[in-house]
Amino acid sequence: MEIEATLSANLAAVRDRLDRAAAAAGRAPGEIRLIAVSKTFGVAHVEAAAAAGLRDLGENRVQEALEKQAATPALPVRWHLIGHLQSNKARKAVGFDWIHSVDSAALLGRLDRAAADAGRSPQLLIQVDLAREAAKHGAPEDEARRIVETSAGCRAVRLRGLMVLPPWSDDPEAARPWFRRLRALRDALQARAPASVRLDELSMGMSHDFEIAIEEGATMVRVGTALFGRRTNPVSIR
Ligand SMILES: *Cc1c(COP(=O)(O)O)cnc(C)c1O
Repeated sequence: MEIEATLSANLAAVRDRLDRAAAAAGRAPGEIRLIAVSKTFGVAHVEAAAAAGLRDLGENRVQEALEKQAATPALPVRWHLIGHLQSNKARKAVGFDWIHSVDSAALLGRLDRAAADAGRSPQLLIQVDLAREAAKHGAPEDEARRIVETSAGCRAVRLRGLMVLPPWSDDPEAARPWFRRLRALRDALQARAPASVRLDELSMGMSHDFEIAIEEGATMVRVGTALFGRRTNPVSIR
């Protein structure tokens, strides 16, 4: 089948890149979670990803992801929300296993209440707006600090680390300073965090720059195009 064959060739190439980058950085490849970003692709791609052994899938829209989840209830995968989350969608978002886009203490509180009501315990990352780009989402650094403090009182959700989406550049090296800053911010936040909070995860790096992110300490890389091919406009999930 064409989707399976293309995906398994792409996956072999991505794993090879990931393994080499980890080796060059003196890290074990198993420390780095490969998230296959299936946004805009349909159920056939989701099923092919699971069949190829991918266990973490990334989506950027809540509704689109819920439809795919409903269509593939038995797949042994964890779902990651990597796109902006409006607070009025918090109730729907607690079905994700990981949410990478927490950008305010208020959203954290809503997610915690919704997760407690639903009997869920999603793991969360703070999306940090390091570059202060007007068009991008994410918490400024002082809000990130507030989120860390607030998280100590959460009952259901668990804060695990930080995520960044650097300004776009086709030069992968341009992302390195942002990855470094995210790691430094994590270290600074961890040093002042309440004792119960552990910020072990750094979600950074995409198809064209994930090797650089691995060199700078990424524990999760979010890879779409290099696995599934070029995205066309969002289409129906079928
Ligand atoms: C789409 C997307 C990715 C994947 O991008 P590729 O360049 O296709 O690998 C990663 N992170 C976020 C937040 C995204 O929206």
